[in-house]
Amino acid sequence: MKAVIVLFADAPSWLHLSGEIKDFLSDMAQDMDTGLWLFYHQEKPVMIPEMVDSLSSLKLIPIHPPCPPESFLGLLETVQKTEKADLLIFSGDGLGEELSTRLAFRLNGSSCLKVEHCIKTPDGIEVSRSVYGNHLKACFILKQPPFCISPARRPSRPARVVPLPCPASDLPQIKPIPVKWIKSISMTKNSQDKGWIDADMILVAGQGVKSRENIEILERVARHMGAGLGASRPVVMAAWMDMNRLVGASGSMISPKVCLVLGVSGAGVFNAGIEKAEFIAAVNTDKDAPIFKIADVGIVDDLMAVLKELEKLILSRRPGSLAGQQEAGS
Ligand SMILES: Cc1cc2nc3c(=O)[nH]c(=O)nc-3n(C[C@H](O)[C@H](O)[C@H](O)COP(=O)(O)OP(=O)(O)OC[C@H]3O[C@@H](n4cnc5c(N)ncnc54)[C@H](O)[C@@H]3O)c2cc1C
Repeated sequence: MKAVIVLFADAPSWLHLSGEIKDFLSDMAQDMDTGLWLFYHQEKPVMIPEMVDSLSSLKLIPIHPPCPPESFLGLLETVQKTEKADLLIFSGDGLGEELSTRLAFRLNGSSCLKVEHCIKTPDGIEVSRSVYGNHLKACFILKQPPFCISPARRPSRPARVVPLPCPASDLPQIKPIPVKWIKSISMTKNSQDKGWIDADMILVAGQGVKSRENIEILERVARHMGAGLGASRPVVMAAWMDMNRLVGASGSMISPKVCLVLGVSGAGVFNAGIEKAEFIAAVNTDKDAPIFKIADVGIVDDLMAVLKELEKLILSRRPGSLAGQQEAGS
């Protein structure tokens, strides 16, 4: 079976997405001829994420901004005409999922998203994924190639980048296919998106934080600690924090050295997002909160009181600590 990984080098968190694909492929543990089609719009990549032991082929595909899915799809259709891959593995983010579904439709193939496991069968592939809000696991047999799939999100480490391991074949210039129905596209960079996921220490705010004003205090303490800041679902749904800060099965899977969880009850879907942290400390007023089952250290107390003491402690250890303590007290 000829497989290719399809990735966009300028996508946010593309190394995390590559890490997820790497773990997905190592679970498959089947010998496959696997290549990489790497889209880029800024500089031509000289390093690529390491996802398989040896890549059978590498294509670097320039794409001109703005990069709507239509542009990727047109290029993918053209490349697939000559390459004839049987299995196309897309990233697990929104773009990967959209391309996977739409390309399969255009090529009269089959698609499955959020795939947890995939095995070859004599007449196609068998994929399994969670369904019905993670209550059931379903197996699907895809028989109509090309098979376009994207892996389920998982708490993977970012993939290591390595120099190009095999010669990259430059594609003959493919003319971008004009998309007439899009009149204009504008992109606004999210100012909060600062790679918080990669911080060694992450604070996670839950509904127990109670207000947007209290989130500002958390932001300040996180700044003092040099920590990233994530949130549970009620916090982002209340718009106290940006949606890209969501931790859990529906958001980011984090794996910091230290994770301080404040006012989170510990639902399974949330816990899935922090279980790869090396050390978990949780603060909750309810001594029976499920979060304590996965915490290395649990503090039964009001989170604001704990935060205040923590901030005092951090500032008191800094040079010029008196000024710092005054800030914490204000
Ligand atoms: C399909 C599906 C997917 C989902 N995906 C996610 C996901 O990815 N991420 C996610 O977070 N949720 C997700 N959810 C929602 C999830 O089930 C929970 O509802 C959510 O995680 C609860 O968030 P929370 O713990 O912040 O709030 P709550 O459950 O309301 O808990 C608040 C906690 O704060 C404590 N508390 C209150 N006041 C204080 C105080 N002053 N000091 C200290 N502690 C205090 C309370 O004792 C309580 O334990 C999903 C749900 C579904 C159905």
